[in-house]
Amino acid sequence: MKPLLPAANPSTWLGVMGGGQLGRMFAQAAQAMGFKVAVLEPAADCPAGQVAERLVEAGYTDAAGLDALASQCAAVTTEFENVPADSLSKLAQQVFVAPNAHGVSVAQDRIAEKSFFVACADKSGVMPAPHKVIASQQDIDTIADDLLPGILKTVRMGYDGKGQVRVRTREDVRAAFESMGKVTCLLEKMLPLAYEVSVLTARGHDGASVVYPIAENVHRDGILFTTTVPGPNVSSACAQKAQDAARAIVAELGYVGVLCIEFFVLVDGSLVVNEMAPRPHNSGHYTIDACVTSQFAQQVRAMACLPLGDVRQHSPAVMLNILGDVWFDGDSQTMREPAWDRVLALPGANLHLYGKDDPRRGRKMGHVTFVAPTLAEAQRQFEAACTILGIAL
Ligand code: ATP
Ligand code: MG
Repeated sequence: MKPLLPAANPSTWLGVMGGGQLGRMFAQAAQAMGFKVAVLEPAADCPAGQVAERLVEAGYTDAAGLDALASQCAAVTTEFENVPADSLSKLAQQVFVAPNAHGVSVAQDRIAEKSFFVACADKSGVMPAPHKVIASQQDIDTIADDLLPGILKTVRMGYDGKGQVRVRTREDVRAAFESMGKVTCLLEKMLPLAYEVSVLTARGHDGASVVYPIAENVHRDGILFTTTVPGPNVSSACAQKAQDAARAIVAELGYVGVLCIEFFVLVDGSLVVNEMAPRPHNSGHYTIDACVTSQFAQQVRAMACLPLGDVRQHSPAVMLNILGDVWFDGDSQTMREPAWDRVLALPGANLHLYGKDDPRRGRKMGHVTFVAPTLAEAQRQFEAACTILGIAL
């Protein structure tokens, strides 16, 4: 495909499936480069719809909606993992779609994803956690002893630790499988994690790829809490291995677009690949303020078949996710407006709010990235922000 250039008359439109915050930041990056953006999303008021030039208010499988998006746009991408792969195939009959249905369908099905990781392990040099598909009572009866204790995860639609149960015994697996409505699950061996990292990568239409610096992630209650780059625990050997693995994985998948790969680093220092997201990722938000090319600008470049951008990080960064919890006074139901003026007074603070007007506990409302000449300084400002916002350290 020829590169899609931003144009004035007629305008060049880029489309995105999904109206969440990742779609909003994608739209902002596309608009900054001179594209117009159309969003397909069933919800009338959504973070991406608020900023896009056009909102196609339709379900993700709605034929008329998909047709409206495809006929308006020169290329279409996705901002969420669970976009129906069939909808991407349908769009692809009319318009360039990146990532394509294949890449997305592997990432949205834990069985396909694990099999893919196993199949390309000789190239990537990393394996996923030992695992077993649990689809029936018989599968539970035949669980090998060394897979327990483990985590039972639904095969589809898992995110932010939802659709996961920790299990110690076969009896626990049985109970958890029943509580999840006997949908097909994957049992993963519980591994001794030292810390978690992710690697953001992008691959162009021409097969060229780029790999961002490795990010170290801390989760709280199954939700990403902070991303720190450079990761305080990450050795250069580990970073190299994870980046090499990411490069091999994105190539093996024949992927076009931004792909984020999550890894575990175990207490013995070994690296295990966990999962991948076929889109920009929460752990890549730091790139907006700390890298030459943000993950969203990179998504635009990849889908428009433009040259990929420089992934160089110019400042150490700490990204703090802002959940709805900070609108509540401690554990009470009393609501308050967070003191953003005080947060913004901190050196190197970059506030990003997603336009959601009903804060709820556990809901991602925004993030703040602290950049500084040194990581220690960025961490100091991050800690000061936590104190201001009432976030326990
Ligand atoms: P998200 O969408 O937030 O990335 P998810 O719901 O898709 O999460 P996972 O990333 O697979 O699920 O798991 C969530 C968290 O649970 C991981 O970040 C890790 O902390 C922990 N975890 C998952 N699998 C294992 C494992 N096999 N051993 C130890 N801890 C695990
Ligand atoms: Mg995860």
